[in-house]
Amino acid sequence: KRVILSGIQPTGIPHLGNYLGALSNWVNLQNTSKPEDELLFTVVGWHALTLPQKPKELATSRMDMLAILLAIGIDPKRCILFHQDHNPLHTELAWILSCLTPIGKLKRMTTWKSRLATSKNMRDGSEVDETGLNVGLFTYPVLQAADILVYRATHVPVGEDQSQHLELSRDLADQFNRTFKGPNRMFPLPTQFNTSSKRILSLRDSASKMSKSSPDPSSRILLTDSPNEIASKIRTAVTDSIAGITYDPINRPGTANLLTILAASKGEDVHETVKGYESKNHGALKRDVTEALQEMLRGPREEFERMKSEQGYLQQVAQEGKEKAVEKAEQTMREVRRRVGLA
Ligand code: ATP
Repeated sequence: KRVILSGIQPTGIPHLGNYLGALSNWVNLQNTSKPEDELLFTVVGWHALTLPQKPKELATSRMDMLAILLAIGIDPKRCILFHQDHNPLHTELAWILSCLTPIGKLKRMTTWKSRLATSKNMRDGSEVDETGLNVGLFTYPVLQAADILVYRATHVPVGEDQSQHLELSRDLADQFNRTFKGPNRMFPLPTQFNTSSKRILSLRDSASKMSKSSPDPSSRILLTDSPNEIASKIRTAVTDSIAGITYDPINRPGTANLLTILAASKGEDVHETVKGYESKNHGALKRDVTEALQEMLRGPREEFERMKSEQGYLQQVAQEGKEKAVEKAEQTMREVRRRVGLA
């Protein structure tokens, strides 16, 4: 039996990259999973706190993310959909795991190292030290391990950038199993599993990925963009001045990006999609991308608006998710406490 867990931070309305690279895979997983599989999808509010957040915006983003997940087709009858911060057992396990985590291992996390490098640059190349960075940023891979292990998850669909964190989760599971032996293995070692890994590029700068932190809003399409907003962002998307359309991500990244988006929104393989465009121009491609996106996002956008007007329903979903998540985690924690001597 597989126990599959994945999470997303509540940081504003997701963009097309988040959707095609991560969230649409959740829906596929849900719709193709076997009846015996258990699925857990979580909005990870505690992780968002590792960076400064405005409380009001966080509160809104947190409910928006739940509404978006429902709007794209996550079905709380087929999975446990919940807010991470509704289940304090994550933090209890995180504490126990942090007492098994060597500091050196966290210092080797590339996410931490890049934070350190950024803060060093900000302070004008002064000596590298951690003084400006918060402890949460340093230890959040341990909380992430707890998010996974508290449900004894076996499969975690995450992107390449998370491989090192998942490895830490496996190491901690193994460390716990060997330190606190019992009649059977406490934690399965969670495996990363790669769902389709589509990387969507910024519409304004093909050298970077589509990202919520880009200052230029026209570089990304949000799941809630209106048909007009979609049309205008695709119209101004960077391409190239080569005649005809070919799929060449190295030399024609902007054009390739539009083809990737078109193929994904039609559920096709990009090499199939491009065949129809050999003798066409960018104008035709952009028209079709616009239409395909308007079509793909219409349902989620309308559903999101409907969800927003039904706060009571959202709260009910969150409450039911919380109850199921806590119940499942409590089974793990009863055994964990017993093994470490805190029962
Ligand atoms: P940032 O501003 O840090 O880039 P983001 O919202 O753009 O933030 P993350 O929060 O890092 O992205 O990622 C959330 C999920 O969306 C991850 O699973 C990540 O792999 C996926 N993702 C983010 N951007 C893209 C993209 N451009 N293409 C494909 N997947 C993406």
